[in-house]
Amino acid sequence: MFSGLAMLQQPPSSSKPDRLIMVKKRLANGEPCGKCADAERTLRDRGLWSRIDEVIWAEELDAESPGMQLARKHQVTLAPFYVRTVDGHERVYTSTLKLVQDLQRADAAAALPSQAQPSLEEIAELEARFADAEPEQILRWALERFGPSCAIAFSGAEDVVLIDMAKRTELPFSVFCLDTGRLHPETYRFIDRVRNRYEIAIDLMAPDTRNLQAFVRQKGLFSFYEDGHHECCGIRKVEPLRRALAGYRAWVSGQRRDQSPATRNRLAVIEADSNQGAASPLVKLNPLAGWTSAQVWEHIRAYGVPYNELHDRGYVSIGCEPCTRPLRPGEHERAARWWWEDATKRECGLHVGPVPPTR
Ligand code: SF4
Repeated sequence: MFSGLAMLQQPPSSSKPDRLIMVKKRLANGEPCGKCADAERTLRDRGLWSRIDEVIWAEELDAESPGMQLARKHQVTLAPFYVRTVDGHERVYTSTLKLVQDLQRADAAAALPSQAQPSLEEIAELEARFADAEPEQILRWALERFGPSCAIAFSGAEDVVLIDMAKRTELPFSVFCLDTGRLHPETYRFIDRVRNRYEIAIDLMAPDTRNLQAFVRQKGLFSFYEDGHHECCGIRKVEPLRRALAGYRAWVSGQRRDQSPATRNRLAVIEADSNQGAASPLVKLNPLAGWTSAQVWEHIRAYGVPYNELHDRGYVSIGCEPCTRPLRPGEHERAARWWWEDATKRECGLHVGPVPPTR
């Protein structure tokens, strides 16, 4: 474990884009730690060692060594770890296997024949071309075009339907999930059931620790009941989403138009997402835009797709535990999310593309 509380004085390396730093720990006896040596062997065995641009040492006896400074900066307490910068976004890996997986995924994406990111004009053409297409057709097109650079954002029943459809194509794809830290225990069990059922890796994206600590310290754990959910959602969902999407060219959401007449009634099946900080817009796919809740549940029953057990207890749209309640008779499904706020504000900020909420 690292020690020392001093703040980072200077960045120990340059911040050129697309850069990968490995931080190794050197023990007091001058030897590298065993886990760091194992990690290097893993990277060499998989032909990925050349991808490390720089090795930085965290000296056990020197709290100010460059590796120790990086560890404090990123609040990492274990070695080895990696700092990967892609398109100006830094991502920290504490798992060598996760790094291997992401590097291989990037390589697979680079090997795809068509690498040009669709322009805004092409995305508009695609929107028209697929406007009435079946969800499976839209998904197949995306996975053939982007492969594992296309990620399904997983949280609810619709998203597992999309994972189920994607799995049936036998094409590679990626899945991530925003772990806000406030999900129901049932939701965490559901995530793991999906992971096991489809034998897929699911990247759980946690909020930035420093932002979250500062927010909770200042406002406590339930400020959203007082001044609205957007600040908390911004830290626990929107920023991790942006971080998750930094590695992808396209992403898939399970949004449906009929989920919210107030905010989703003009949802397109394909749209440009210019909100994630990437140089070119990402392609955002909403293959279920035209589906109803009944169609989603027909697919779930027909194919035995796993679903969140909370659905059996009256929950319909499921988000974080403090901001979700069971639906009452006669209510629209989004009425049970942030129910204390105006209906036009019941979005978490994840879906702010070219579809403006109607006022
Ligand atoms: S849904 Fe509620 S708890 Fe979850 S991030 Fe938003 S405001 Fe915070």
